[in-house]
Amino acid sequence: MFENLQDRLGSILNGLTGRGALSEADVSAALREVRRALLEADVALEVVRSFTDRVREKAVGAAVVKSIKPGQMVVKIVHDELVEMLGSEGVSIDLNAPAPVVVMMVGLQGSGKTTTTGKIAKRLTDREKKKVLMASLDTRRPAAQEQLRQLGVQTGIDVLPIIAGQSPTDIASRAVQAAKLGGHDVVILDTAGRTHIDEPLMVEMAEIKARSKPHEILLVADALTGQDAVNLARNFDERVGITGLVLTRMDGDGRGGAALSMRAVTGKPIKLIGVGEKMTELEEFHPRRIADRILG
Ligand code: GDP
Repeated sequence: MFENLQDRLGSILNGLTGRGALSEADVSAALREVRRALLEADVALEVVRSFTDRVREKAVGAAVVKSIKPGQMVVKIVHDELVEMLGSEGVSIDLNAPAPVVVMMVGLQGSGKTTTTGKIAKRLTDREKKKVLMASLDTRRPAAQEQLRQLGVQTGIDVLPIIAGQSPTDIASRAVQAAKLGGHDVVILDTAGRTHIDEPLMVEMAEIKARSKPHEILLVADALTGQDAVNLARNFDERVGITGLVLTRMDGDGRGGAALSMRAVTGKPIKLIGVGEKMTELEEFHPRRIADRILG
């Protein structure tokens, strides 16, 4: 594993075996390769910088022992630091609140929000025996509302009927009310996305939040997001206040650097990952696996 980075570091560092400790210059040379590996994995530049600073602190002065090659040693430091920055595993959706617990899904259009809404609803229904209500708040795109309605038909999970002309905040209130009357444990609000972040979107999200008082606000983001990941996560977190992240398209070819970028700028846990289009293709997040993948 990590042959790629290990090889690259090996050729820089392995001559140092038995030479005492890693010097600042040795570590700097190694970190140039680490930096390149992270950028290739689509980690945002700003996060690459703070990450390599942390690794530098741990690696400079580290004793070079005979039993392990210096290249391997640095790879281990990098890997451990990646796992630590990616955060703890098994942080599930928090339903520890009076029913109906409101879960608000936010994110850009096309990120996989509606699909993930269906997946989470199915998971809570199947595994935790919860009664779930889903509601689409995307009043600008009838196709999005229809998509959620179909997911409801497909999964057998309740979907709030559409009433033409209602605003997103009105739908949010109606969803919470319907969940109370219907004896639902959880109500998932699938909010509207845009192709990029803009002011009206953030205002709309803040209004929905104020009206529906969500216990969880999950930012759904495409794992293939590159340098924009930092901006995206920071904006949603600062303006709306997210409680967790869901990374979609982890089944794709990407190395998933966005996971590190988003986790680093928000400090919020990555709760779940999407690994396909099917309703069952949602998995728990394992930092070690993502760290392996980032290092390639
Ligand atoms: P929304 O606009 O954010 O609601 O995005 P959608 O839920 O409509 O998803 C956009 C597209 O991405 C659809 O074709 C989904 O099937 C697909 N999609 C969503 N999540 C995943 C995933 O984890 N893996 C893959 N391969 N495709 C996904």
